[in-house]
Amino acid sequence: MIHEYKHVLIEILQISTLTNKEICGLAFNCVKQSDIPMLKWNVTFPDKPKPDPIPPLPPSPSAPTTNVLHLTDLHIDFEYTPGSNAECGRPLCCRSGSPSVLATGAGYWGDYRTCDLPLWTAEAIFNYIARNEEFDIIYFTGDLPPHNIWNQSYEDQLYSLNRITDMLATIFPNKKFYPAVGNHEAYPSDLFPTSNIKSDNISWLYDALANKWINQLGLPNDTRSDISLGAYYTTLIKPGLRLISLNTNYCTQYNYWLFISSNDPLNQLQWLIQWLQYAEDNDEKVHIIGHIPPPSCLAVYSWNYYKIINRYENTVTGQFFGHTHNDEFMIFYDELTMKRPVSVAYVAPSLTSYSSMNPGYRMYSIDMSNTSYVVDHRTNILNLTATNWFNKTVFLEEYSARNAYNMTNLFPNDWNDLVERMQRDIDGSLIERAYQYFTKSFVNGQCDRPCRLNLINCHFKTARSEDTTFCTTEKRH
Ligand SMILES: [Zn+2]
Ligand SMILES: [Zn+2]
Repeated sequence: MIHEYKHVLIEILQISTLTNKEICGLAFNCVKQSDIPMLKWNVTFPDKPKPDPIPPLPPSPSAPTTNVLHLTDLHIDFEYTPGSNAECGRPLCCRSGSPSVLATGAGYWGDYRTCDLPLWTAEAIFNYIARNEEFDIIYFTGDLPPHNIWNQSYEDQLYSLNRITDMLATIFPNKKFYPAVGNHEAYPSDLFPTSNIKSDNISWLYDALANKWINQLGLPNDTRSDISLGAYYTTLIKPGLRLISLNTNYCTQYNYWLFISSNDPLNQLQWLIQWLQYAEDNDEKVHIIGHIPPPSCLAVYSWNYYKIINRYENTVTGQFFGHTHNDEFMIFYDELTMKRPVSVAYVAPSLTSYSSMNPGYRMYSIDMSNTSYVVDHRTNILNLTATNWFNKTVFLEEYSARNAYNMTNLFPNDWNDLVERMQRDIDGSLIERAYQYFTKSFVNGQCDRPCRLNLINCHFKTARSEDTTFCTTEKRH
């Protein structure tokens, strides 16, 4: 693994203006990021006043809705080998070797240990979705290759992209895909060079993404130049509803190229502001999709992003991410008071079982009359234990948000009301259920009080990194 990253690290140490202590801060969190001067920058906003916040009104029951499938973190392992060693001591197992005498080998349909999904399991889930779900749109938020990050190659990453795109285009013909790029798509994983890096570039990936996303997944051709440039783009889902797909791999400390310059890489956040202003001026609502959710970003990026969501709270009516593999949500508050909820971001459950989770997918029902808000969502999982036991896929409708959480709507206020109800009854069943869903029903009832407080304060109420407003004594884990 060191080998894969060696040349990059050497170059970064040569060019970067960071001190050793600051590099330690970035790489190993040994100083706060907000104490590092290079990690201080601010986006700028057009010279137009923020409109008064308009709280969304519930659509009438007869208002039209559309269903969106959210697929994320597929991590399909083409070398998965049933019966192989599932406890191999590497970042990814279930590929080779024999299990030790006392251990069981890799399950046929997948394994809860550090293993990704076999191809046949992913295919079975997609076929189940195609047969059983009604939807027109797919938000597809990245991470296609497996976790064997120590021995990948450009060819491996392109193989995953090609093979998985072919499969999705075949199983889901005539659906509108809106993809976003994951950190595992790169080689080496997580490393997305910015355009000022001369020794490396990532056009091999972005050109391939542009071809696949446009030629096979149906994005319009006018997104090509943006995708080739930075793997982010915008397009209209329908008149009045705009989709913005961000490449959030430029937000994270694991993209070591940012040690050279982290200042709004590729001007992507300024580009986002331009489009949100355009949307505001033209009465459009916006859904933002991306792979890495803001709390997993560098503090400076996530605080700027928070500011942008605050400024355009009337315009951004949905945010959809992946990457953590957990099923979670995060509320954005009015940054001045940190009291009034202004937006909510959904992090959908991963398709992979990696690790200690059931495979899952998310369905959203979106109001298409005026707000474009999510009116309800449902999560389905593959019960991996039962599937391996019966040697036959066993699907489970895990929960629907409104029903499970007793919510009338899914507006930011409603999510805030839900976390307040959880807080008032910290030992109660509501937060226990939320934790069960967080692990996609792998864990049941094993969240003690610190774990519950962490879930509420550091996950549900915190959408920025290094933000101690609610996440004080506990760390996000
Ligand atoms: Zn992932
Ligand atoms: Zn990821």
